[in-house]
Amino acid sequence: MIVMKFGGTSVGSPEAIERACSIIAGHRHRVPLVVVSALGNTTDRLVESAAGGRAGLRQLDDLRQWTTAVGQKVLTGAAARSFAGYLNKVLQEAEDLITDSQGGEPFGPASAAVDAILGIGERISSRLLASALVERGMVASRLDSRELFVTEAQHGGARALHQPTRDRLRQVVPPLLAKGCIPVMGGFIATGVDGSPTNLGRGGSDYSASLAGAALCAKEVQIWTDVDGVMTADPSLVRSARSLPVLSLREASELAYFGGRVLHPSTMLPAIEEGIPIRVVNSRRPDGQGTLILAEPPPADPVVKSVVYKENITLIDIYSTRMLMAHGFLARIFSVFEEHETAVDMVSTSEVSVSLTVDRPERVSGILSDLAAFSHAEASPRQAIVCVVGEGIRYTPGIAARVFNALNGIRIRMISLGASRVNVGFVVDENDLEVSVHRLHAMFFEQSASPKEQLQ
Ligand code: ADP
Ligand code: ASP
Ligand code: MG
Repeated sequence: MIVMKFGGTSVGSPEAIERACSIIAGHRHRVPLVVVSALGNTTDRLVESAAGGRAGLRQLDDLRQWTTAVGQKVLTGAAARSFAGYLNKVLQEAEDLITDSQGGEPFGPASAAVDAILGIGERISSRLLASALVERGMVASRLDSRELFVTEAQHGGARALHQPTRDRLRQVVPPLLAKGCIPVMGGFIATGVDGSPTNLGRGGSDYSASLAGAALCAKEVQIWTDVDGVMTADPSLVRSARSLPVLSLREASELAYFGGRVLHPSTMLPAIEEGIPIRVVNSRRPDGQGTLILAEPPPADPVVKSVVYKENITLIDIYSTRMLMAHGFLARIFSVFEEHETAVDMVSTSEVSVSLTVDRPERVSGILSDLAAFSHAEASPRQAIVCVVGEGIRYTPGIAARVFNALNGIRIRMISLGASRVNVGFVVDENDLEVSVHRLHAMFFEQSASPKEQLQ
């Protein structure tokens, strides 16, 4: 069997849904399980409506109208009527959460109610896609992912619990596949161990797909998106970006972690555990090869595979002349981040200071006041992480020198060459981001000689 995951843009219009149906039909012989994201930018609209309180009800109404129109183009007759009824029912749930439980006040960023509202997008899309497949002559059945994917009881993005998720998927999916039925499930959504609605974090449908692939020992997990696979840079920023035929799972993990939005950072974890290949493919050009992500791909040029970036980063510099060399000081710093449930992306230390980056600006003021109890801490907002990623960085001298050459004149606030040595990352001001990415892309991908030749 294989897992086929369709992202928001790959089901963002009636035409896109039509394309997704024919792609699935073309893969029937490979026994697919389908995972689908919310239609188009539905999740963004749901985020806005939760954050808007009573004012957010208008966004829900716009969403109802838009989704109804999509449903009417994709389905006919009784199926269209049944979908419209379902749509009204689930959007009413969101409306009730906003008006009743919250009294019309805007929700904070993370709670069970907000997760319930955000999860509506995938409930709608999985229902619509399953009906569309049936109407086009396929045997398909919609599964409720909330009954299959189990996470820790956290809100605003939770960690998946692999074992219970695997057990449930193994119980429910194989009998359907054996009957020749195509199961269709929403990505992203799950249920916490306490029974509350949760999700895998924004962009988490990729992760749902690889969790399912690993649980069911899939031959391949396909991520159908709106670009030709993983590319040498984000093509929306660098027009000359090219697609990469092959990547290693480690390269893909680093690339996703440091901002390559094309894959959710956790996607590679289950695939690494089970050795399952991931293929990233363009749903607008289904005949293309896309990118194949393998545990151990053959060594390949170029040394650097991609330039990725992550915006809206805060750099925190912590100084303490007294304490830094004392044991336990770093543990104390990290316990503050732990208390504020904030992950640290990059760290570097000197004798008197520690610099680190976080991507949750809303948590920074609380973190700073806790750090002030034992150090002097300063935050620089609106920074960006830029990273060059590639397995070859490990054994090719001179990559860092070329990075610095490319960035001549740009103020670099922090540098990191990770233990995996699959990336060189640094922090620049957001205003310098675009030029940094362009210059690095030009340095590694737009010069005539191959990077190896240039080093000789
Ligand atoms: P989906 O809705 O299919 O999940 P996403 O928007 O999450 O799609 O991811 C696809 C987008 O990722 C592309 O449109 C592209 O702009 C962006 N992207 C960022 N970095 C890269 C990269 N290195 N290679 C390919 N796409 C990238
Ligand atoms: N719909 C969710 C989001 O927009 C999950 C996903 O698309 O992967 O974040
Ligand atoms: Mg995505």
